[in-house]
Amino acid sequence: MRFATIQTEYGPRATVFEDGFYVDIHRSDSSLPASVREIIAGGPGLRRGVEQAIKEQKVARYPADQVKFLPPIPDPPKMVCLGLNYRDHAAESGAAIPKEPILFSKYASSLIGHGDKIVLPAVSNEVDYEAELVIVVGKGGKNISAKSGADHVAGYTVGHDVSARDWQLKKDGKQWMIGKTFDTFAPTGPELVTADEVPDPHKLAIRLRLNGKTMQDSNTSQMIFKVGDIIAYLSQVFTLEPGDLIFTGTPPGVGFVRKPPVYLKGGDMVEVEIDGLGVLRNPVVQG
Ligand code: MN
Repeated sequence: MRFATIQTEYGPRATVFEDGFYVDIHRSDSSLPASVREIIAGGPGLRRGVEQAIKEQKVARYPADQVKFLPPIPDPPKMVCLGLNYRDHAAESGAAIPKEPILFSKYASSLIGHGDKIVLPAVSNEVDYEAELVIVVGKGGKNISAKSGADHVAGYTVGHDVSARDWQLKKDGKQWMIGKTFDTFAPTGPELVTADEVPDPHKLAIRLRLNGKTMQDSNTSQMIFKVGDIIAYLSQVFTLEPGDLIFTGTPPGVGFVRKPPVYLKGGDMVEVEIDGLGVLRNPVVQG
């Protein structure tokens, strides 16, 4: 299934894509939640209810080319991000191949959806782009083994880890988080594609286009830490919860390592594409 959260006349609503339409789940059956996070938290039982409810729904549906997308999960309990998780990207950044995941976080206040504007903050001159596969946690848990990690994945979405390099790398303390979580710096979507429709998350072409020009072009097979490893590592530390988002790192081709460097500017259009998951498109404006 392909879930999307869209803006409707009733407010933000969880929908399922079906035959060119996004079908409002809660309006189809008012006993079902209006939030994608609550639906995935309900597990397989609730999912069967969704399948039943949207069948033959004729009213509560919106043509795909007219919807206003919100982030698929607008209210994640946590957002965790991996750095340097592609071999080639670690090399281009002049960093060693990490032996353990390098982690930082973003706040939910940085989330925007497909089509929303990335706003360049006045206090940064070095805002960069990063295409990323995002894991959406389904079943929560603690101390999950790498082998059973896949059982805890609800699905995947396309993510963009927008990064102010001057704040990430040039401030005292060298703490990455502050450069990564400006408002609008976490575009995700358009959809959450459930794991059963992603046969192998480590075999997905991933690319990023800036104003139509391909800047990143790789495959998730290049990831150093795989989905199961990541879930196992994180869940040693904190309890994973339904709706948590995990940004899995970016492939080579980012702007700050280019000569001369490429940074986002007002008027740009950025597209992140992952095969099978879709295209996440966001215009850039100067704040
Ligand atoms: Mn990143």
